[in-house]
Amino acid sequence: MSRKIAEVRPIHARIGNRNQLLLKITLEDGTYGWGESGLTGRDLAVQGMLEHFTPILIGQDPFAIGRIWQELYRSQYNEGGNVIGAALATIDIALHDIKGKCLDVPVYELLGGQQRHSVPGFASTAREPDEVMIDEAKLLVDQGWNCFRLSPAQHYTKDIYDARASIAETAKWMIRAREVLGTGPMIGLDYHHRLSVAEAAMFCQMMPPGTLDFLEEPIRNQTPEAYAALRAQTPVNFAIGEEFANKWQALPYVERDLAQFIRIDICVVGGLTEAMKIAGWCEAHYVDIMPHNPLGPICTAASVHFGAAISNFSYLECRDTPVEACGFDVPEVFVDQIRLDGAAYPVPDRPGLGVEVDESRLLPPTPVAKVGRPRLRRPDGAVANW
Ligand SMILES: [Mg+2]
Repeated sequence: MSRKIAEVRPIHARIGNRNQLLLKITLEDGTYGWGESGLTGRDLAVQGMLEHFTPILIGQDPFAIGRIWQELYRSQYNEGGNVIGAALATIDIALHDIKGKCLDVPVYELLGGQQRHSVPGFASTAREPDEVMIDEAKLLVDQGWNCFRLSPAQHYTKDIYDARASIAETAKWMIRAREVLGTGPMIGLDYHHRLSVAEAAMFCQMMPPGTLDFLEEPIRNQTPEAYAALRAQTPVNFAIGEEFANKWQALPYVERDLAQFIRIDICVVGGLTEAMKIAGWCEAHYVDIMPHNPLGPICTAASVHFGAAISNFSYLECRDTPVEACGFDVPEVFVDQIRLDGAAYPVPDRPGLGVEVDESRLLPPTPVAKVGRPRLRRPDGAVANW
């Protein structure tokens, strides 16, 4: 058996309602593993980074995952950033898949072994606040979901974003949601980093104690000082970190206790190797991990194995639930995948990630010129965060 990397092949494809970048790494003996990039919407940049990494990978022993991570990260002058983090992640996940298959063990066995029998998920209501949103939340509670995430007013706007109008409307509905749903479920809200420190503080101060269990990304996480300023104005738990590209970006938020849930994305943060280091760091601070998982079955599988292997885990984001259908699970493409059982993913026992892809059924990506994100404006015409 030859255990050398023979081919590194990115595959850009349309999966569900968006383009995704997959990666297939194949060994000389034909064994292969799958990875996925989490930098959705900037897939071609990651694909280019993978082309830079490929000559370094060809001929390497795929079992030396930690050393390969270091070599890819350190063998260049300009380090860091989400493009490098996502490219490293795709490679790292694919190498774990390969190693699990070669050793005939699930990936979590490579991460210290199984710590739980299932990985609990959280759902997101797929609409802006109204009575139907509350009905959706009630449905989730009835179906056994102990944690879910609501969206703020104007979450789906495609042009004008008025922060003050959003926080006033959202506060009203969050209070109503808690009144109706009681203290049982864990309720979060994702503000998609659209607010300033002052706006986020105003919103939090409209929340009676106990209304919100966590607030996701009230502001961008580019400066821990801004979060420290916000923390001084509210006791609400923050759930942040889906854009962290590596452990160094997570460092100040963990070390300074600025985030109470760390939302790393395994497909952005440099893969399982880097995620395990961040999880250990969080454990030392009694902070739980709540992974970002907005993509397809490969990201989900990597996240489930990760969740199975760490003790400080809360909930995994789920995007195909009783109240939301993104279509990322495409059963004719992902012919084997880890599926929800109620509100949790059972921990799988297949070797590797447990995902099989029928490449012949993958659809070509939507042309980049036709893929856009909303370019939001404030009411006065200035640019707002998407
Ligand atoms: Mg988010």
